[in-house]
Amino acid sequence: MEKLTQVKGIGAAMESRLRAGGVHSLLDLIHTYPVAYETHRIGDLDAAITGFPISLCGSIVRSAAVAYLRRRLTKTTFDLKVAGRILKVTVFNREYLRTVLKEGAECVVTGRLESDGIRFTASDVQLRKHYREGILPVYRFPQIGDAVFAKWVLSALPAVQHSLREEIPDFLRIKHGLPDLPAFLRIVHQPQTESDLATVTKRIKYEELLRFGVKIACLKRINDRTVTPPKTYDIQTVRRFISALPFELTPDQKNATNEIFMDLKQPRQMMRLLQGDVGSGKTIVAAIAVLAVVTAKEQAALMAPTEVLARQHHLALTQLLSPFGVRTAYLSSGVKGKEREEVILGLKSGTIDLVIGTHSLIQEPIQFHRLGFAVIDEQHRFGVKQRKILREKGLTPDMLFMSATPIPRTLAIAMFGDLDISSIKTMPVGRKPIRTEVCDFSQMDRIVRLIHDQIQLGHQAYVIVPLVEKSVKTEAADIGASVREFRSLLPTEVKVEGLHGRMTPEEKYRILASFAAGDISVLVSTTVVEVGVNVPNATLMVVLDCERFGLSQLHQLRGRVGRGADQATCFFVTDDLLLGSDRFAILERTTDGFLISEEDLRQRGPGEVFGEEQTGIPRFRMANPVVDRELLETALADAKAVMTSSDPVCRRMIHEAFSEIEETNID
Ligand code: ADP
Ligand code: MG
Repeated sequence: MEKLTQVKGIGAAMESRLRAGGVHSLLDLIHTYPVAYETHRIGDLDAAITGFPISLCGSIVRSAAVAYLRRRLTKTTFDLKVAGRILKVTVFNREYLRTVLKEGAECVVTGRLESDGIRFTASDVQLRKHYREGILPVYRFPQIGDAVFAKWVLSALPAVQHSLREEIPDFLRIKHGLPDLPAFLRIVHQPQTESDLATVTKRIKYEELLRFGVKIACLKRINDRTVTPPKTYDIQTVRRFISALPFELTPDQKNATNEIFMDLKQPRQMMRLLQGDVGSGKTIVAAIAVLAVVTAKEQAALMAPTEVLARQHHLALTQLLSPFGVRTAYLSSGVKGKEREEVILGLKSGTIDLVIGTHSLIQEPIQFHRLGFAVIDEQHRFGVKQRKILREKGLTPDMLFMSATPIPRTLAIAMFGDLDISSIKTMPVGRKPIRTEVCDFSQMDRIVRLIHDQIQLGHQAYVIVPLVEKSVKTEAADIGASVREFRSLLPTEVKVEGLHGRMTPEEKYRILASFAAGDISVLVSTTVVEVGVNVPNATLMVVLDCERFGLSQLHQLRGRVGRGADQATCFFVTDDLLLGSDRFAILERTTDGFLISEEDLRQRGPGEVFGEEQTGIPRFRMANPVVDRELLETALADAKAVMTSSDPVCRRMIHEAFSEIEETNID
């Protein structure tokens, strides 16, 4: 009785699309809530306020004309008569509408009226007969239109009424004045009024955040059980190390160091997130902690997301720590044969104090003599996976996670409730803020001239190209095409080379080494340079089609320049500016990574910003921990009540959270 295909309109093909999106039953279907709602109303031209979005209806008095501006940019213009006035409408990248936007056609344009009261820049154009007024649920289900999806859901509802299962414990639902499940389902897929909307969005968000809260509480419970012996480190050696540094630690670095040392002394496993912008000096703090652990006769492991980064860490840490007696080694899947055997033996016998490698290091069948400390670089938040692997190996080292996507403290505490947090907010003195400009592709000539200028001054530049598709071929092809383009735009003596993730580690390393040595002037690259690459002589960064990246990622990319004494410049190039997007303006205003990530979290949510897989932070369907911060805090407090309640719904939530944590995949 619960087959998807019993719904009119769902055949075998549609069923497999639904299944691919995780919908396997009628219950799944009705529990697929909208991710947003759009309120469609046709506005009144006289009430239009310059710059604010509005939908207007009229008839076309001059058919659409299309101009091809440049690569992937077309401009369609037509005249629309609205309430007796003629508007000059412009819409970008809708050239395919040309055939229907003919004189006499009735259509609805959504967009902004310019200050002259005549020009109208549309973000959407629809024929009147296709325009539906009212509150429309937006599902964004892959490959299925919203209207079709809504229809299916409504016709599936009666069939499942009897098998509904409440998801929010009654005592909490009543406390917050939320409707019960049957009442909720009646309006969630077909809201009529603004107050319906407020009710259903609150229930959806609350349920999501409560689940999240319960999961965090469960993680905390696992963590609280872990007891580790306190470390008796040699504070004199640590002091000598710090005073031998060529600079003084910033106050934030000192605080973070103190917090970590307190953890080392506790008989409880350290679970600490050290967050700060790229270049804020996290690595030094980690190095100090490693030294302390080694003086306590225990071993340390440092894991980085890429081989390039791991090698850099290995070089830097060996240089820093070996004068203080720390014996380091590098291990990755690329290290083979006798060299590998030696490292493995050294770790087992304890003749190696610090091993550095990629994140896969802990998945290797390695035995440690006495692993006391694990540092995980650029692995946001929980490192749920790593913890699980270590637990299963019977290892409970103190753990330090380093993140260069720092978020404001209150938000961090709310979101990463089971981690302790140290933040480095101020940069070491003497850094020049990077000059940043967001522009469209019409500025490319000027940018190429500026690249050339910098090269003539002996500097270097990065050009970052997004992957259009995550396919093996495209990546190389895109980079190849861009390399050729920049070679043709710049004088022949300028050396331009490409870098992308599909290259072998050796190739990547060779290209990066020759860029670092100054032999390559322009490095055209995918985001493989995002984290950790350090070339102080590079002063210019250009990111093409930056709309394909999140703000935090762009900020990280920008952090690749401005590492030396010279003024650095960064260009973010996007044609979205022409469509009226101001998403990127914050990058021009500030270089404070805390503010930028907060805005990024507001725009995209934590699942997108941090990556759901590696962090365990869900892609919330509707809730947004930044926008809904208050509700999140309420839900986190309620989650504590759930943990101690005997209510069957509570027990089920806890059970589900634990099995979700256990299921966290291991590649
Ligand atoms: P992060 O790991 O946060 O990206 P690093 O620890 O790699 O930053 O530090 C970036 C650079 O700043 C390094 O060259 C480091 O030696 C230097 N540095 C770190 N702390 C200070 C400080 N307090 N004063 C001056 N320079 C510092
Ligand atoms: Mg770092």
